[in-house]
Amino acid sequence: MSTIFSKIINREIPAEIVYENEDILAFRDIRPQAPVHILIIPKIMIAKITDLNGAEHGEILAKMFDAVNIIAKNEGIAESGFRTVFNCGSDGGQEVFHLHLHLLGGRKMNWPPG
Ligand code: AMP
Repeated sequence: MSTIFSKIINREIPAEIVYENEDILAFRDIRPQAPVHILIIPKIMIAKITDLNGAEHGEILAKMFDAVNIIAKNEGIAESGFRTVFNCGSDGGQEVFHLHLHLLGGRKMNWPPG
């Protein structure tokens, strides 16, 4: 199943890409919920990891978090702090079924989340 994120990976639609390596692509969320709001995705659309339930590939998750560390530094939020979120499924508020990690920062986050 292809999603809007596949189109971003294939450069079929534009996105503001902030980081890329062999396995990972990261770009600014089109509807930012914080001054810094970046989506970090695996470049391959592994059928089994459309969401966190299927994310049995620890290796790709580790690579996603490696990217978080790099991007947080680049965006200047490593020191002030940030939040990472995986929305999973309907109750989790997931809209796009290609595994993605939200990196949010640049303001104080609220808790509990809505
Ligand atoms: P989620 O609700 O966790 O599935 O998050 C999907 C995110 O993708 C939302 O925050 C959307 O704003 C974002 N999004 C959807 N389409 C695009 C796009 N074309 N470029 C960047 N972000 C997008």
